[in-house]
Amino acid sequence: MAVDPVCRMRISEESAEKTLYKGRTFLFCSPDCKGKFEKDPERFYHSVTDASAAVAYFSMEIALESGMPTYSGGLGVLAGDTVRSAADLKVPMAAVTLLYRRGYFYQRLDSNGTQT
Ligand SMILES: [Zn+2]
Repeated sequence: MAVDPVCRMRISEESAEKTLYKGRTFLFCSPDCKGKFEKDPERFYHSVTDASAAVAYFSMEIALESGMPTYSGGLGVLAGDTVRSAADLKVPMAAVTLLYRRGYFYQRLDSNGTQT
């Protein structure tokens, strides 16, 4: 069984419409789906090619937006950049992080250098 990259329907290889793109054969349920794919293949390319290799990305912090308390520093910024890069490259990645109820951690040092 194959998956039509346009409508996501499972199809048998014997009866499918076919097209070749980037050295790979794609199968379609109908000439209509094949036409949609051929008109804009990059729109659908990653939906099937990477479906079996989708990435789950977990990080304690991911900086998505400065107003969202999902990060406090460098790790979150790095994770946010990673998620954005994956989106730009259309990598099928789901990112999961924590949403902190009390927001960021603020470090304070007293005159003795002790964290308070
Ligand atoms: Zn289809």
